[in-house]
Amino acid sequence: MIQFEEMGLDPRIIKGIQELGFEEPSPIQEKIIPHYLQSPGDMVGLAQTGTGKTAAFGLPVLQSIDTDVKVPQVLILSPTRELCVQIAREMELYAKYLPKVDIVSVYGGAAIEPQIRALKKGPQIITATPGRMHDMVRRRKVDLSSIDILVLDEADEMLNMGFQEDLDAILAGTPSTKHTLLFSATMPKEVATIAKKYMTSPVEITVGKKNAGADNVNHIYHMVHARDRYAALKRVMDFHPDIYGIVFCRTRMETKDVAAKLIQDNYSAEALHGDLSQAQRDFVMEKFRTRGVQMLVATDVAARGLDVNHLTHVINYNLPDDTENYTHRSGRTGRAGRSGTSISIIHMKEQGKIRMIEKTIGKKFEKKPVPGGEAICERQLLHYIDRVAETEVDDSQIEGYMSAIHEKLEGLTREELIKHFVSMEFNQLLKYYRETDDLNAVEAPAGREGRDGRQRNKRDNHNEKNIPMTRFHINIGSKKGLSPKDLIAIAVRATGKRNLEVGRIDLLRNFSFVEIDSTQAGSFVQQAKKLTFDGIPVVATESDERPQQKQRFNGDRRGRSGGGGDFRKRNDRKRRR
Ligand code: ADP
Ligand code: MG
Repeated sequence: MIQFEEMGLDPRIIKGIQELGFEEPSPIQEKIIPHYLQSPGDMVGLAQTGTGKTAAFGLPVLQSIDTDVKVPQVLILSPTRELCVQIAREMELYAKYLPKVDIVSVYGGAAIEPQIRALKKGPQIITATPGRMHDMVRRRKVDLSSIDILVLDEADEMLNMGFQEDLDAILAGTPSTKHTLLFSATMPKEVATIAKKYMTSPVEITVGKKNAGADNVNHIYHMVHARDRYAALKRVMDFHPDIYGIVFCRTRMETKDVAAKLIQDNYSAEALHGDLSQAQRDFVMEKFRTRGVQMLVATDVAARGLDVNHLTHVINYNLPDDTENYTHRSGRTGRAGRSGTSISIIHMKEQGKIRMIEKTIGKKFEKKPVPGGEAICERQLLHYIDRVAETEVDDSQIEGYMSAIHEKLEGLTREELIKHFVSMEFNQLLKYYRETDDLNAVEAPAGREGRDGRQRNKRDNHNEKNIPMTRFHINIGSKKGLSPKDLIAIAVRATGKRNLEVGRIDLLRNFSFVEIDSTQAGSFVQQAKKLTFDGIPVVATESDERPQQKQRFNGDRRGRSGGGGDFRKRNDRKRRR
């Protein structure tokens, strides 16, 4: 192994990183740093999250700048404001013993004027999100003609966020002689295209297998019905009392929804998504970093800015739409030589997705049943007992109360005493789990495709014809004049199925719920977006929520209408339950 001292790095930089506890270079650092220092040029670095990519480009970048010259020499683009700030913060630490290096971060969602003022001072290094940087270029607030090095960090994620246009505009102002360093966890086609378009015969350095999942991550999935997702999540958390991890959701709304439910159900959880203010985000992230909260519920993009090690679990509340994102998610656990677990909660139709992810990561998933009530109770009990046994006892503090306590507990044997303590802690949990369903979705016998059943059904999501139904939250309610007929019309129009099976409808003031044939669920979500009601785009999100509401409309209708306009003629039965 090449040591930091043998790479040709400035001793002052080495002093800086030593202070951060960097003793040996990580594999990507070992390959990138000496290579760039000896033969500077375009490079592509592929390595998973948490492998030390920031220092891999940050150290050579610091070594290359001229601190006497006050013009931008290095531009580092990354997908989120958190990453911009994090990279700047990290590089300032590396540069602690160098003469003053000025690093400015430029990102959206914050006032632009202070950033413009900071740019005026001529920082040597700029870390930026593509959108805000493009804005600065457009407003002529920055001169990029002296850029020597361009870094594209988390290029795959930037592509997911559609930065192509911004990138073109930003790069137009940079000299063609600059070196471009591109970093990415994975190498999808789009990243390869970027490399080809913007780079000159780059040296490609890969650490680990391309697109491989981290080796010490176990991949597990539980198969449940869509509306049991939340219940399954709770079980996973109950089964792992010491869990410390991230629950990944697909949308902001789902993120908010899941976090709110967890908090209401007394779990230690917080939401992290793009709707939060910067201050709120900082607060949540700090709380998570310092373990003030066990579970973070987050979207892929929001979680990108997080640098947290030692996660025990990553939970995919919903699988990502993009297989590549699974790699990012699961790469957040199993770091620094520890093992981690990535748990996906899926429904029957998503097994194909699992197979696709298996191909991408080159590892097999293990299908496991959702932990049952009994197993959870046992785990929780033993965990509690362990904690009791490990609790430090400070005699001096409790001495004074002991005789009174003895007096009160006099009639109880040791056996009884234990039972009392355990019952006090566990009665509620035991009661909750005594009468619970098996949440596992069971595969149908051959020939009855799609007809999934479950072992003990209480409120089954099949309609009378035993067709599996999926329940959706719709962002529009009766306040906007929406009627059950309108909902059916929307579902029919979105799916393009005249004879669509529509199940229960719950119409509330500000939103509503509708159940439709599960096989149409995907196209419903996709196409509903293109429809509007009263000028509002229709947003359908899978949901297991069941409002306790007076106004209920029984479904099991067949949407017979064709174009969707004639639905009003039909005579819907309205039953009140
Ligand atoms: P990536 O960008 O690949 O996801 P980071 O650069 O954010 O990874 O590094 C992840 C963590 O590892 C950071 O906390 C960083 O300080 C730490 N780190 C990086 N390189 C080393 C090293 N050589 N020795 C010890 N810790 C390191
Ligand atoms: Mg990084």
